[in-house]
Amino acid sequence: MIKVDFNRPVTVGNEFEYMRQAIENAKISGDGVFTKKCHAFLESELGVRKALLTTSCTHALEMCALLLEIQPGDEVIIPDFTFVSTVNAFVLRGAKPVFVDIHPDTLNLDETKLEAAVTPRTKAVVPVHYAGVGCEMEVIVEITKRRQIALVEDNAHGLFGQYRGKYLGTFGALATQSFHETKNFSCGEGGALLINDPALAERAEIIREKGTNRARFFRGQVDKYTWVDIGSSYLPSDLLAAFLYAQFEQREKIQSHRKNVWNMYRAALQEWAQKNGVQLPAVPPDREQAYHMFYMLLPNLDLRQKFIMHLRERGIYSVFHYLPLHLSDMGRRFGYRPGDCPVTERVSDQLVRLPLHNELSGADQEMVIDAILDFKFQ
Ligand SMILES: *Cc1c(COP(=O)(O)O)cnc(C)c1O
Repeated sequence: MIKVDFNRPVTVGNEFEYMRQAIENAKISGDGVFTKKCHAFLESELGVRKALLTTSCTHALEMCALLLEIQPGDEVIIPDFTFVSTVNAFVLRGAKPVFVDIHPDTLNLDETKLEAAVTPRTKAVVPVHYAGVGCEMEVIVEITKRRQIALVEDNAHGLFGQYRGKYLGTFGALATQSFHETKNFSCGEGGALLINDPALAERAEIIREKGTNRARFFRGQVDKYTWVDIGSSYLPSDLLAAFLYAQFEQREKIQSHRKNVWNMYRAALQEWAQKNGVQLPAVPPDREQAYHMFYMLLPNLDLRQKFIMHLRERGIYSVFHYLPLHLSDMGRRFGYRPGDCPVTERVSDQLVRLPLHNELSGADQEMVIDAILDFKFQ
C-alpha cells in the first residue's frame, strides 16, 4: 500500500476554470489566449527576450539543435549525469556527444573539466542545473564566449532558480524548460524554449510552426502564410497552456511550499546524515535554488538499495535517478567505457530522491523522516 507518493500531480488554482475558458474561446489548438499569457509570464518574470511554449522540454532541445544547425560530426558537450533528452536531441541531428563528468558536491557539469573537452568541432555546451541548483555559470559563460561555442541551458529542473542574482535560463543563447508531470510546474507533458539571443528569435517561431511564417502572418508583418524553412509541430494545445498558466499564477504558493518541505528535510536529517556518512545536497551561497528535488547520497549501492526497500516496506516511495549516459548502450556505441566519468558512476549508485511534491503534507513528511531515522546502516 502506498502511503507517501514520490510525486503526485495536483491542481493548485484555476486549472479547470481556465481549461473551460479555453474551450469557450473556441480555440484549443496552439498559440491561443493562454499560450500567449504563458509566454508573457515567462518573458516578464525571467526577463528573457522571447519564450515559446513547446510540447516538451525534449522538443525544445530538438529546436535548439535545429536552430544551431547541428550537423553530422559536430560535437556537443553534455554532463554525463542527465536525462537522455539532453543528449538525444543533438544526436538526432548527427552530433557526437562529449560527456563531461560532474562535480561531487552539486552534481552539475564540472566546469574545471570543460575546456579540455573543447575541440574545433565543438558546436554547443549544454549544462544542466541539476536539482535546480545553478551550474558555475561565470566560468561556463566565459569559456563558451571565448571559444565561440553556443551555450544552451537545460533548465528542466531550475525554473526560478538563480545564480548570483540572475535567473537560470537567462545565461545561454537558448534555454529549455520542462512542464512534465514530475516538474515543479506542470501541464502533464509540456515545455518551453527561452531565447536570449535575438538573432534566433524569428527562426525559432518558424521552426516551431512547421517551417512556416504563420506567426509573422498573424501579426500582419507579411501578407502570405507560406513554407519558408525546415520545421515541425512543436506547439502545445491551448488547453494545456490554460492548465499551465493556472500553475504559473500560483508561483509563490508552489515555490514556498517546496522550499518549506526541502528545508524541513535538511533540518531533520543533517545530524543523522553526518553521523552515518550520508551526503546531503550542496547549495553554494551565491545560488538561489529552485527546490525541485531533495536527494541524498548513501555510502554505497548496497545501502542505497536497502534504504529504498526499507522505505518501501513502510509505504514510502523514494527513487534513484540517472544512470551514467556514457555506460548506456548508446554511450558505449560512441566508444565510452567504465571509468570515463568516475564521479557520475559513483553518484548514480548512491543517490536517492525523497518524496517532494506540491501537496506533500507535514504529516506525510514526518512519516518519511521517522522512517529514515529508523534505517539501520548494518
Ligand atoms: C524532465 C527532463 C527533460 C525532459 O523533459 P520533457 O518535458 O519530459 O521532455 C530534459 N532534461 C532534464 C534534465 C529533465 O529533467
